[in-house]
Amino acid sequence: MSPKPSVLICGAGIAGCAAAIALARQGWSVQLIDKQDAWRFQSSGIFVYSNGLSYFHELGVMQAMVASGFEIADGRNVYLHADGSPLADTFYPGAYAGLTLPPILGIRRAEMHRVLAGELQRLGISVQLGTSIETVSSDTQGVDVTLTDARSLRCDLLLGADGIRSRVRELLWPQVQPRYSGFGVWRSVHRRPPELREKIMMMAPGLRLGIMPISQEQLYLFGTVSAGAGVWHERAQWPALMQQAFAVFQGPVRPLLDELGGDCEVLYTAVEEIIMPAPWHQGRVLLIGDAAHASTPFMGQGGAMAVQDAVVIARLLARGGIDAALADFGRIRAPLCQFVQDVSRQVGITGAQTDPAAHQSITQAVADSGQQRVDDFYRRLQALSAHDGQAAHDAQGPTSPA
Ligand SMILES: Cc1cc2nc3c(=O)[nH]c(=O)nc-3n(C[C@H](O)[C@H](O)[C@H](O)COP(=O)(O)OP(=O)(O)OC[C@H]3O[C@@H](n4cnc5c(N)ncnc54)[C@H](O)[C@@H]3O)c2cc1C
Repeated sequence: MSPKPSVLICGAGIAGCAAAIALARQGWSVQLIDKQDAWRFQSSGIFVYSNGLSYFHELGVMQAMVASGFEIADGRNVYLHADGSPLADTFYPGAYAGLTLPPILGIRRAEMHRVLAGELQRLGISVQLGTSIETVSSDTQGVDVTLTDARSLRCDLLLGADGIRSRVRELLWPQVQPRYSGFGVWRSVHRRPPELREKIMMMAPGLRLGIMPISQEQLYLFGTVSAGAGVWHERAQWPALMQQAFAVFQGPVRPLLDELGGDCEVLYTAVEEIIMPAPWHQGRVLLIGDAAHASTPFMGQGGAMAVQDAVVIARLLARGGIDAALADFGRIRAPLCQFVQDVSRQVGITGAQTDPAAHQSITQAVADSGQQRVDDFYRRLQALSAHDGQAAHDAQGPTSPA
């Protein structure tokens, strides 16, 4: 019997945890490391649409996430003008890849990781915290790695799942750097008034502000502003600056903006992207998730792309040789990830227009063709996922390193 193939996964975010779960299930020997001393997840909430949930479902963790988050069961996204008056409703699909799923799930990021961590524990995988990669050297049979805690090891495959500032990418693709998008995102977490049960998107010239429930008790606000490169805000000023940035908004968001500065958590993020053509592997090292294709967040798809990457690489590895799987991965995943990046960037650029006439035509387009755009986007996601290795997933047992 051939020995178990081994993988070192650098980064225990969504992509890394999901890959660890998928590969452990297939019989791989998995080591998962993260540079954080303690697992901490900033960034309030995250929403995941049905496409992303279909991959969490495949990993067997979707129900637990739904139980700890807030499901928008009818998929309704309510658009409002800045004064709170209605603009349009759109509905997100509750079916994907032949499955019936929650159309949208809002969840605290820490809760999502609690669920992933529970599954890792069940599979006997412990996350080795406080360590990172010092050096990498890949040959045709495997990878030699030294870690910052002075250990060295050899594995059949190294996955760089270490996010937008990936150390693995820095070592092997030093020419690829995060690119600033021109946007900042403000987020804050609040107690959820019982009547706020929908995903709401409010629009003003040059500004977007959303409300999303993330549990029975909480919701979060997320708002986009244009901001020059290098803009930095003193943390103590964040609540006041967020209030100022969205001062024009009324309606359901007004009491939430008014309470900023109390005990609500507030976060500002300068948004960056990773624009990196495939292939995303060199030798036996592969980048997945944000490390390879971080997107602006305007389509809420980065987490979905990360979990899909993890599931797809596992499916391809179940099919046969590692080298073929790595080559297929970029070919299969790059068109979809690039599509998401392009659409998301365009949504950001469109929403940043401050000219009142341009804003008027944007809101008119939401009212006239918002649903059509949602439907087209999901149709395209499905089409670009059609060859993501599903057929290969029936293959049983671990793959021997080829
Ligand atoms: C403002 C904003 C809002 C967003 N909202 C959404 C949303 O609503 N829905 C959605 O789907 N997506 C959203 N995204 C995108 C989403 O957060 C990312 O796409 C997703 O987290 C990517 O997962 P990942 O595992 O690839 O990377 P990450 O989540 O960044 O995880 C990387 C992990 O690697 C670790 N790490 C980093 N460097 C090292 C190192 N040198 N050594 C070891 N470990 C390391 C980190 O500690 C971390 O645990 C948003 C992004 C932003 C910026």
